[in-house]
Amino acid sequence: MSLTLDPRQRAMLAEIGVRVWLPETGDAEAPAYAVEEDTFSDAPVAAAAPVARPVERPPVQAPVASVRGEVAGLDWPTLESAVASCQACGLCQSRKNTVFGVGHTQARWMIVGEAPGENEDLQGEPFVGAAGQLLDNMLKAIELKPESDVYVTNVVKCRPPERHPSAEEVIACRPFLDRELALTGATMAITFGQFAARGLMMGPASRGKVMRYNQLSVVATYHPDDLLRKPEDKAKAWGDLCLAKASHA
Ligand code: SF4
Repeated sequence: MSLTLDPRQRAMLAEIGVRVWLPETGDAEAPAYAVEEDTFSDAPVAAAAPVARPVERPPVQAPVASVRGEVAGLDWPTLESAVASCQACGLCQSRKNTVFGVGHTQARWMIVGEAPGENEDLQGEPFVGAAGQLLDNMLKAIELKPESDVYVTNVVKCRPPERHPSAEEVIACRPFLDRELALTGATMAITFGQFAARGLMMGPASRGKVMRYNQLSVVATYHPDDLLRKPEDKAKAWGDLCLAKASHA
């Protein structure tokens, strides 16, 4: 799997720390962007969402079926308002802000993270700070403009404090993600982080292949925070991005 790279793209890749094999130099190294199979755990979402410490959760405020029915008919403004006032799971009690998606409302590409972190919770936006900067550079490297070609969101819209979201929270928030998918009409999703992949797929997810979720083609890769902590995985992330781009040219 490869893309033809011009000098500008190579510069962008250098910026995010990806080494690219240059055939014209005769470099004998294997291509840095070779796609490798790297299967996330096959455990389903329910079992794969560890809770770091016991959390007392209030009862769910509204039945999921009811929420889903109400959300299915919302437009963008009313959907954002519904998220802002949502109390459908216990995360409403500890959040500072809900974190609604940002980007083009009719984007073909959906960027999906797991859940807001501390900074996202404070600022009310997904993928901020160094992780957001790296995400932008990763998207630009495959010629996607963050401001016009993608819509960026999370599986759950409120921050789980110091843990991954539980299966109950993923399910409670699902109507909002499904409505974002429907309103954008996106046909390609890249998930960032293994819990985002499992959360979107509602089950097992693997890197290194194109998965399907309804109308969506889905490719999983590493979360920018993980790449900042472990830069040696950037080459594999580049392979994932190439796979997504090639499957959705
Ligand atoms: Fe509502 Fe989702 Fe926030 Fe839970 S995480 S309170 S379902 S918006």
